[in-house]
Amino acid sequence: MLGFHLTPEQIEIQKKAREFALREILPVAWHYDAVDDTPLPVLRKAWEAGIMNADIPKEYGGRGLGLVDNVLITEELAAACAGLATSIFDNSLGLEPLRLSTNDDLKKKYFTEIARNFKLICFATSEPTMGSDVSGIRCLARRDGDDYILNGTKYWITNGGLADYMSIFATIDPEKKHDGICAFLVEKNWQGVSIGRRIPKLGQRGSNTVGIKLQDVRVPKENVLAPPGEGFVLAMKTFARTRPAIGAFAVGAARSAMEFAIDYAKRRQAFGAKIATYQAIQHKIADMYQKVETARLLVWKAAWEADQGLDPTIAASVSKLYSTEIALEVANEALQIFAGYGYTKMFPIEKILRDCRLFRIYEGTSEVQRLILSGFALGAYKPVMPPLEDLPIHLEKDIVNLEPGTRAWRCRICGHVHYGDGPPAECPYCFFPQSAFKAV
Ligand SMILES: Cc1cc2nc3c(=O)[nH]c(=O)nc-3n(C[C@H](O)[C@H](O)[C@H](O)COP(=O)(O)OP(=O)(O)OC[C@H]3O[C@@H](n4cnc5c(N)ncnc54)[C@H](O)[C@@H]3O)c2cc1C
Repeated sequence: MLGFHLTPEQIEIQKKAREFALREILPVAWHYDAVDDTPLPVLRKAWEAGIMNADIPKEYGGRGLGLVDNVLITEELAAACAGLATSIFDNSLGLEPLRLSTNDDLKKKYFTEIARNFKLICFATSEPTMGSDVSGIRCLARRDGDDYILNGTKYWITNGGLADYMSIFATIDPEKKHDGICAFLVEKNWQGVSIGRRIPKLGQRGSNTVGIKLQDVRVPKENVLAPPGEGFVLAMKTFARTRPAIGAFAVGAARSAMEFAIDYAKRRQAFGAKIATYQAIQHKIADMYQKVETARLLVWKAAWEADQGLDPTIAASVSKLYSTEIALEVANEALQIFAGYGYTKMFPIEKILRDCRLFRIYEGTSEVQRLILSGFALGAYKPVMPPLEDLPIHLEKDIVNLEPGTRAWRCRICGHVHYGDGPPAECPYCFFPQSAFKAV
């Protein structure tokens, strides 16, 4: 059965998140963008409202919501401010390796703690010299008895300056690439953890982004999220579950850009008429609308696949790639409708445009999503059509007038079909020899 309706519970979740976004985020979004700061009180309110950490399993005191529920929430938050939405959602990202790990004692300890108290957890694969290539991690994890000692720097870490806990990815040996990657749950107060200055950014300035230095940080064996060799897969599985939410951020931000543009187009006069009456503007709005709608469907599908226990990797990449690319296009066209005013800080579009720019970069750039999708399309994807050389031939008697028993031979190079007892010595089109022909 296929259905696109939300359950009454999901409609309620969406409504609550929308109300929260309009009441607590929208009024402060431009201020925190201007001062380049993250409002902890807003994050705390999101936690109190059950909007942050909504996906912590019930058995650990959480709400146990699924990914579809979470993308409904994140679309609403990002519609008010993508930066603050990123900061609020970051706990789900930071907790995802824990959810996927097999370390039950660790789950019990930290899920319970984070569900019960206002605590932040960040996620760290990236480093100053690598982001896309997770197998290129250099942060070293040296074995010391049962413990590990971490040395290295993580960079671009959302909420890193605020978080109490960190999901840190490291390697036992950079030469081992994928096979060396491991992951640990680290506490900020442990000796050897230092937080860098807040990184100044183009957009999403309401989210905190810093570097984290790890110097001889001792991690007890109890805090291993993934042993060496299992960290890379853990990171990839995490992204497969969190990318739909990035898609939902993009849908939310694009939706707001579209709504502001529609409002403006209905008011603004040019050449004696409202600009919304001009077809050029109407077509822009039509394109925005179809892009937002399409992106949301892709996001929901990816989240649904994850909730069904399917592997959402491909759907997650499709939704992330499409939604984040269209968000930038929609915001850009919205700015065009606002024209001069769109380029000012007095109207909301320039902030949305700056915020949207990040979607195509974090949690796997658009180029990385294309790598994943092309790898799938060229590899594991199962085509319905037969290979070109096996395409069936309809032996239409009236057309080719064949003797009974005549055979058909297809040139594998150019597709020419030869009829006869055997293949020709040479293809009359591409001049390849007999060996290029296959019996059909
Ligand atoms: C504001 C912000 C917040 C972030 N938050 C976090 C966080 O919380 N945790 C975290 O771990 N990281 C975080 N990141 C890091 C982010 O995930 C990386 O920036 C991203 O993965 C890209 O890595 P990079 O910047 O090192 O670019 P690089 O990997 O150096 O890539 C540079 C360019 O080359 C392209 N490229 C790379 N490899 C290929 C290839 N094989 N084929 C084609 N093109 C390629 C990339 O797409 C990109 O265009 C954040 C980044 C930003 C800016």
